[in-house]
Amino acid sequence: MNNYFIILAAGKGSRFRSKIPKQYIYYKGKPLLQHSIDKAIKSKLFKKILIVINKNHKKYLNINKNKKIIILYGGKERQDSSLKALNYLKRKKTSKIFIHDAARPNFSIKLIKNLKKNLIKHKAVVPYIYNENSTKYIKNKRVINLDRSKVLFTQTPQCFDYKLLYKLSNNNKIKITDEASLLINKNLNVKFIKGESKNIKITTLNDIKSADKKIYYGIGFDIHKLVKNKNLYLGGIKIPFHSGLKGHSDGDAILHSIIDSILGALRKKDIGTHFSNNKKFKDIRSTKLLNTIITILKKNNYSVNNVDINLICERPKVSIYRNRIINSLSKLLSVNKNKINLKGKTVEKLGLIGKEKAIACEVITSIIKYV
Ligand code: ZN
Repeated sequence: MNNYFIILAAGKGSRFRSKIPKQYIYYKGKPLLQHSIDKAIKSKLFKKILIVINKNHKKYLNINKNKKIIILYGGKERQDSSLKALNYLKRKKTSKIFIHDAARPNFSIKLIKNLKKNLIKHKAVVPYIYNENSTKYIKNKRVINLDRSKVLFTQTPQCFDYKLLYKLSNNNKIKITDEASLLINKNLNVKFIKGESKNIKITTLNDIKSADKKIYYGIGFDIHKLVKNKNLYLGGIKIPFHSGLKGHSDGDAILHSIIDSILGALRKKDIGTHFSNNKKFKDIRSTKLLNTIITILKKNNYSVNNVDINLICERPKVSIYRNRIINSLSKLLSVNKNKINLKGKTVEKLGLIGKEKAIACEVITSIIKYV
């Protein structure tokens, strides 16, 4: 398997008005560039994945480590970057090469498999789509009508026989916007296959914001009795207090409410169903229980969007521990601190909670999935 996947990510993206270059901006829950990497790895078609980045963007590089990834620095223009990657592969007995723009995160693995299948009989395979709009062309300062059924919009990934593309790239002196242009300029055959309409190029910030997402909400409630000679745990941290919360586990009412709210949003029953009162969970730290639920959340491609907490108790005073609890929750839930809110609510010294004999908590959590 001497096939390589090159991702061109060195562009400056001048139409993209953001401090962070678009390749590294979050899109559908992960850096834009990561989408292409994940698909290339998941396809199991490639020996290595070469990512060509802009040297000045090094500080933004936020992709997951993987032994298949090789990072290279690009050149001034697109063709300089792709030639750098092709040069790198010169002594690697490379057979087939895929070239892809990092700004297209939405292609399917099916598309790359289809490209590869077609490469058996052809030296260059390129996906295309038709244009939906009426199409005009400016020729000698005059606008003329074009038959849109004869206009092809090419996409990436594009794939090629390595030797042929290397030769063409090495001899090329003019600016190109895709590698297919090199073959077309020399009247060489390109096999065009049907691309994907969802495989759009992310060009503006608006393309990022308009990503389709699903949001679900869940509610959680919990109450535990306060008893002497027990540590008090709230939100995953130990809090100095005269009593601790009685329970099968450490009694962390905040974490239990959060777990139930996440399970509610996931439509997966409740904490008691996932962690029964058997010996296995006796005196367990609730952080471990929450980790199990967060794993389920991530497996289902969700992430926590925001959390709003009412901690109902006469004491301890929430304002003293608010920052520590929010820091702890931020780590446990993999969510930014500014997405978590913690309110303290006393009960005017009424009832068991008012007499510091119990602590209750209620939580609403929203979770998000990008589709
Ligand atoms: Zn509980």
